[in-house]
Amino acid sequence: MMMEQNIAQAAQKGELIRANGLRKVYTTDTGDKVLALKEVDFSIRDGEFISIVGPSGCGKSTLLKIMAGLLGYSAGDISISGRSIKGPHHDVGVVFQAPVLLPWRTILQNVLLPSEFRGRVDKKVQDRARELLALVGLSGFENRYPHELSGGMQQRASIVRALVQDPKLLLMDEPFGALDALTRDQMNVELLKLWSHSPKTIIFITHSIAEAVFLSDRVFVMTPRPGKLDEIIEVDLPRPRALSMVNTDAFGVYAGRIRKLLHASEDIAG
Ligand code: ADP
Repeated sequence: MMMEQNIAQAAQKGELIRANGLRKVYTTDTGDKVLALKEVDFSIRDGEFISIVGPSGCGKSTLLKIMAGLLGYSAGDISISGRSIKGPHHDVGVVFQAPVLLPWRTILQNVLLPSEFRGRVDKKVQDRARELLALVGLSGFENRYPHELSGGMQQRASIVRALVQDPKLLLMDEPFGALDALTRDQMNVELLKLWSHSPKTIIFITHSIAEAVFLSDRVFVMTPRPGKLDEIIEVDLPRPRALSMVNTDAFGVYAGRIRKLLHASEDIAG
């Protein structure tokens, strides 16, 4: 009954993810306890673009893995559409910093792999894969192998792979961190294009303040370990966004606020 109520309430509020008092304690091989997340609370609306910034080791990846259902939590609660996350679930796509494509499979075969695992490679899925590949400029590369593509192209393919099953939630852990600055800018613009073509809730971890402001509806700023959600910055810049916005005063004000928060937390940590 309680769960049904939660599901109905979440739907009514347009809420996709809610965390209440979320806590994560790791136990190391030597038996030591590491408090990675301490009392994290937030609510994310369906269709929002959220970035998470914070110093290394503050628990960003831990939070993402918990959302993907790949990692358990120690206390509190986190739910998707009103249902507590208890393990891996289907309604999520994940993109990591390295594209992790299988070298012996073509780009199309790589992109279709998660669908194969679920036994669902019908014409509709194949068409969607081709359409998404075209949208990120990879038409004509379907039958190439990963080593024949640049780093940026490989990462585009891994984003397509995460989107083929049309998940509600896309989790991205520093997906553009390994790319050169120009490619990275281009990928940001393309990601927003993909997002408007195929709306989803995106949670995006980054070390780049500019990237976070450019992409997001809200930026979650985390403090050093034990990770807490320090502040949530609403980015009220118009969409569609263009790279030229980075040079505007409004953009600079948002970036400055986040930088100040991060430096303040560094001072405390230091
Ligand atoms: P971030 O992504 O912000 O850099 P992480 O979520 O990777 O941070 O890690 C948060 C904290 O938890 C760090 O102090 C890290 O050392 C610790 N940690 C991460 N994974 C493990 C693990 N498997 N065992 C023990 N400690 C871990």
